[in-house]
Amino acid sequence: MTGKPTFRFAPSPNGPLHLGHALSAFVGSDMAKKLGGRFLLRIEDIDVARCRIEYVEGIFEDLKWLGLTWEEPVLFQSQHFNVYAEAAALLEAQGLLYPCFASRTEISAAATGEALDPEGAPLYPGLHKALPKVEIEERIGHGQHFALRIDMERALEVARKRLDGEPLTFGELDETGELNIVEAKPELWGDAVILRKDVPASYHLAVVVDDARQGVTHVTRGRDLYAATDIHRLLQVLMGLPEPIYYHHRLLVDEDGRKLSKSAEASDLASLRAQGVTPAEVRARVGLS
Ligand code: GLU
Repeated sequence: MTGKPTFRFAPSPNGPLHLGHALSAFVGSDMAKKLGGRFLLRIEDIDVARCRIEYVEGIFEDLKWLGLTWEEPVLFQSQHFNVYAEAAALLEAQGLLYPCFASRTEISAAATGEALDPEGAPLYPGLHKALPKVEIEERIGHGQHFALRIDMERALEVARKRLDGEPLTFGELDETGELNIVEAKPELWGDAVILRKDVPASYHLAVVVDDARQGVTHVTRGRDLYAATDIHRLLQVLMGLPEPIYYHHRLLVDEDGRKLSKSAEASDLASLRAQGVTPAEVRARVGLS
């Protein structure tokens, strides 16, 4: 790896930032400072239907209030759909993607109900995996929208070849800063969506493409995204992108032991600020010194 260690905080502006986000942002920024590295901010706003400009403004305000600084310019994913479409074309050219016209309801109806992906969604039951070419053309001709899914079996085969039979792994830092090598299991995601039906991107594709083009060397994020790293590593191998080091930090839980959600108003940073809570108290509340 050349250059400075590079970290990023990559929130989605689909709700106000809460304490969990503060922890994430502090972790990335603290580690960047400790290693004399860079800290970037990326706005993950591909979900144009759910993302709002007032939440983007809130992100800037909250992070500045917390005393965080980042390098400019801030990358807004919604301004780079062409880049994600190009990346998908790279996978498509390797015969690794196929169109899927099925609706969520059709997929749920066809799924056996037992096999779920790491997010708890039914594993894609292969509904449109082998559609005849003429039918694909006909549906497109009729203006039907489609997602592009990865042919996981084939993708794993290609990745195996690229890795010369070595297992697909990632380096994960633990709480003590030690690097552990973890085996990735992207197959758990099945034929995941790489380009969504509604927008020409997906979280998995955009995050991998942007971490690479922004030169991110250390991906720090919550443990809720631990399983996503498996498919991110697969995409990196398939697209010939560098491998970052990962650190999945602990998650904050409420008094009942449930993960703090965006709707948990009490932990919303703007409300805490309005109540007179100080940034130092926020650090303490998320368990940082
Ligand atoms: N945008 C994602 C979120 O808000 C985080 C993506 C990442 O850090 O990889 O949960």
